[in-house]
Amino acid sequence: MGKATVLVTGGAGYVGSHAALALQEAGYPLVLLDNLTRGNHNLVRGVIDAPLIVGDIADRALTARLFKEYPIETVLHFAAFAYVGESVEDPGRYYRNNVAGTLALIESMAAAGVRHIVFSSTCATYGMPEVLPITEELPLCPINPYGRSKRMVEQILEDFGAAHGLGYVALRYFNAAGADPEGRLGELHHPETHLIPLVLQTALGQCESVRIFGEDYDTPDGTCIRDYVHVSDLAAAHVAALEYLRAGGASGAFNLGMGHGYSVREVIETCEAVTARPVRVVAAPRRPGDPPRLTADCGKAKRVLGWTPQFVELDTVVRHAWRFLAARQG
Ligand code: UDP
Repeated sequence: MGKATVLVTGGAGYVGSHAALALQEAGYPLVLLDNLTRGNHNLVRGVIDAPLIVGDIADRALTARLFKEYPIETVLHFAAFAYVGESVEDPGRYYRNNVAGTLALIESMAAAGVRHIVFSSTCATYGMPEVLPITEELPLCPINPYGRSKRMVEQILEDFGAAHGLGYVALRYFNAAGADPEGRLGELHHPETHLIPLVLQTALGQCESVRIFGEDYDTPDGTCIRDYVHVSDLAAAHVAALEYLRAGGASGAFNLGMGHGYSVREVIETCEAVTARPVRVVAAPRRPGDPPRLTADCGKAKRVLGWTPQFVELDTVVRHAWRFLAARQG
């Protein structure tokens, strides 16, 4: 089968850029679409050899033009806001961008006959699961507007699949972390809220200390446990999902995680070991809406997509993140 062009929305963002690189290496022609409110042109410049269209997924005239201009068969859809706290404070922004923006994109796809979409979903769609590790069969009970916006899009995809034959894969990421192992891409969020980059920035002296949000959880060391999946493994899963859809695979949702978790304290200790620098920590209250533990059962992605994570040690994830960050300090 020839390699048709892939449209990557949010292609200048963290996960989108890594997926674009994986697609490029697999030989797919690409077009990136990013409005650069959260994406960063400097991240992909010189790394991804594809046009970067600066525009919005909600701009139906723009996406219609792209679908006409390029032989696009598949959309990899990353463009979204992804801060839980912000979504609680400004839900309209999340429903407008993540839900209404995606609806405009999907309608434009349907009108142009674009058949496949791989959608960035999240473990936040599960809410506070009572059973671990999390399988795709567990009920979706998101507890914040961010998670609800992603679940709504999954429902829209299901309905468009039934009505218009749109094929979709929703990839429910656990905690995306790390950076391209060769240091070409990495994580550049503004503002940064994620644990690993914050700890590494503290090691670099850019932040004074790291707050530990809750030390009284029912976990071995009292801090929250998360499943930190390497961003390059996420990228590889997108290539696998795209090829699965193109081969006629049935639509569905898949968890993507490392398959085991690490506590906040373990993350901090690993960062101290990797950087060989001490990191000052301070105790802070629990962050509202944080479940004590989230770990993925990735059996379905392994069985159906043939995806296996390559980086299953926190140490490796942190080393790659550190390499990217430290190199940027000059
Ligand atoms: N966390 C923390 N201090 C921080 C940032 C995060 O203790 O400055 C904790 C947070 O409560 C969660 C874990 O680290 O248990 C991962 O949080 P992150 O924001 O990186 O990802 P999330 O789990 O919210 O997607």
